Amino acid sequence: MPDDDASSREALPTGFRGEGIAAHRVRVLLPLPLPEALDYFAPGSLPEPGAFVRVPLGQRSVAGVVWDGADNGLPAKRLKPIIEILATPGLQSELRQFIERVAAYTMAPPGAVLRMAMSVPEALQPPRPRRVCAASPAGRAVLAGATTEPRLTPTRRRVLEILSSGPQLPAAELARLAACSPGVVRDLITAGLVDERFAPAVTAEAATPDWRLAGSALSTDQSMAAKRLVDGVAAGGFGVSVLDGVTGSGKTETYFAAVAAALAADRQVLVLLPEIALGAQWLERFRRRFGVLPAQWHSDLSAAERRDTWRAVAAGRARVVVGARSALFLPFPELGLIIVDEEHDPSYKQEDGVIYHARDMAVLRASLAGIPIILVSATPSLETLVNVARGRYQRVSLPRRHAAAELPVVRLVDLRRERLERGRFLSPLLVSELAATLEAGEQALLFLNRRGYAPLTLCRACGHRFQCPSCTAWLVEHRFTGRLLCHYCGHAEAVPACCPECLAGGALVPCGPGVERLLEEVTQRFPQARATLMVSDQLSSPRAAAELAQAMTEQRYDLLIGTQIVAKGHHFPMLTLVGVVDADLGLAGGDLRAAERTYQLLQQVGGRAGRAEHKGRVLIQTWMPDQPVMQALAAGDRDPFLEAEAAARRQAGLPPFGRLAALIVSADDAETSDLTARALSRAAPQLPGVTVLGPAPAPLAVLRGRHRRRFLVKAGREVRLQPILQDWLSRVRTAGSVRIQIDIDPYSFL
Ligand code: ADP
Ligand code: ZN
Repeated sequence: MPDDDASSREALPTGFRGEGIAAHRVRVLLPLPLPEALDYFAPGSLPEPGAFVRVPLGQRSVAGVVWDGADNGLPAKRLKPIIEILATPGLQSELRQFIERVAAYTMAPPGAVLRMAMSVPEALQPPRPRRVCAASPAGRAVLAGATTEPRLTPTRRRVLEILSSGPQLPAAELARLAACSPGVVRDLITAGLVDERFAPAVTAEAATPDWRLAGSALSTDQSMAAKRLVDGVAAGGFGVSVLDGVTGSGKTETYFAAVAAALAADRQVLVLLPEIALGAQWLERFRRRFGVLPAQWHSDLSAAERRDTWRAVAAGRARVVVGARSALFLPFPELGLIIVDEEHDPSYKQEDGVIYHARDMAVLRASLAGIPIILVSATPSLETLVNVARGRYQRVSLPRRHAAAELPVVRLVDLRRERLERGRFLSPLLVSELAATLEAGEQALLFLNRRGYAPLTLCRACGHRFQCPSCTAWLVEHRFTGRLLCHYCGHAEAVPACCPECLAGGALVPCGPGVERLLEEVTQRFPQARATLMVSDQLSSPRAAAELAQAMTEQRYDLLIGTQIVAKGHHFPMLTLVGVVDADLGLAGGDLRAAERTYQLLQQVGGRAGRAEHKGRVLIQTWMPDQPVMQALAAGDRDPFLEAEAAARRQAGLPPFGRLAALIVSADDAETSDLTARALSRAAPQLPGVTVLGPAPAPLAVLRGRHRRRFLVKAGREVRLQPILQDWLSRVRTAGSVRIQIDIDPYSFL
């Protein structure tokens, strides 16, 4: 609550004392984790709900949004005046409602959700003239070698080269492109080699995608599917379609028809992709279909790009936005269609800050906006399939691969029979298939969802294992960088020469395979093959990822080894063999979706094989070939597996047949966290049909130095868990370092 300081009372113009003020009272929601909107008064004309305003908060001034609903009844004399009404178009009622509903569902403060819709505060200011850099005549002369003074360091040379070969750029942007510190650019300006001047303000005119361009000629299956999607767009109104098509069936081409229809109807379109970083091929396809690139929204954009895109969306200039999950909170004034590609992807669940599932919230936004939404996948989530079965979502199927491409043949490699050599991870069968593939001049992909060299490093002499100092997790050796790394908190240390415990030298041994170790094995077995890794920690940027994908397409590599980032979206025509090195990896642990996720991931990875005219093969190495999920993959028939999964979850009352919420208690020390957990336990709700499990130490009992305890709350589908949790929490006092996180519909059980 803002302080009732003397200055604000003085700020009250006499005319507003007492009664008259009621008419000038406004609620303002600030993008801060406060429990509710705050009351202010508007000295001048009353701003409309949704208007962006600047208001005082303590000593600061903060931009917020005029909110709907009843005020808090703060005494008139304590109200502070809003400072200004901003000129930016206001937040539409649809988005305000969406923010309220997301907050209510996830139990996050509405202001924390608003912050996601106001993630670029600079975008609210009118565009300012930018200061940009250009190479000065002196700079050009030095670069051209016309003079030898002053001497250029390689970094300074790079900066000048960027400027002389491209457009004028703001200093910060220039430093980013040249991968140098802003100081280098400053020094060049001081030295007179770079000029800085004002460029006129521009509102980047986002190029408009042209829906009139002809797309690819669709196959009969595709046209039928496209027609149903287009009909949904034409009819308008809320409706969920599930575009369920095998890998390579042309789902993208098909939903592009719906995008075109929405554009033709003068509406904006939002396409969510799981990892926009992997979207280079997608973007290129969009450009081929619609003539221009769509607006993009993801974490790898510069601040200036985010600001321009936010403004372009709010002003309706950006007609199609493709983005990661946070794009869902952009202020579209004319949203007409949402597409969630790879709807089953676990990365749609945001796990920190406001914990929400972007697919589920996208359905909510579509329903509030009264528009169609399309969920796209080759392996739809059980949640989505159950909604199809209940008749809430309509399924649109693409059962065949496009053109001559056939689905790959899938074989299980039973590791109990096919023996692995010591310290090796490729079975004889997989090795011979690899040899045949390389022999034929085709490409292969080895999939192993483990970064680094080995998941565990231990001392042969004393058995010492390397553990993260602030997490319950083993450190993973990364040989390329010579470091031991915690995959949970990022802690890194150099690999020591001798064991820190018993001081034995040269006694550290790697246990198990990571992708780096696999690359070593491949290089030993196939010295001629051009092999490389595709791993998130070695791809510095989306551009690096795109370049690697391009190199694969052009067959500059024969063999790709990758983690889950290779699974999605890629289309390499000459890739015919996929080897899954350890199919059982994802099945361990008590995750209710472990089997489903394994199925989805391996089906996606396998789907990279044989996408063009060459027939594909998939080899899956497993110790558990009898598992239903392995059988489903081998048979290429998901239905019996999914039915069994569904039956098991129904039996156990688990999602999507029941509700689940997690409570994670954390504190700086184990004792405090146990005390709080016990207090929560005593106050736990005792209601029919609601089960509280726990407290139990989280599998990651210590994460970033915080000691964690978990509760799991289970209830029937008819139960609304939020009020129950609210009531529970209100009965427990927490102190000091304690934090209680609520995760509605948890996907992570760590
Ligand atoms: P999915 O997303 O279902 O895995 P894609 O949309 O990636 O499938 O399509 C697989 C490949 O087939 C892509 O290279 C795509 O360009 C091509 N393709 C799909 N449909 C058509 C079509 N109607 N005409 C031409 N090429 C197509
Ligand atoms: Zn750690």
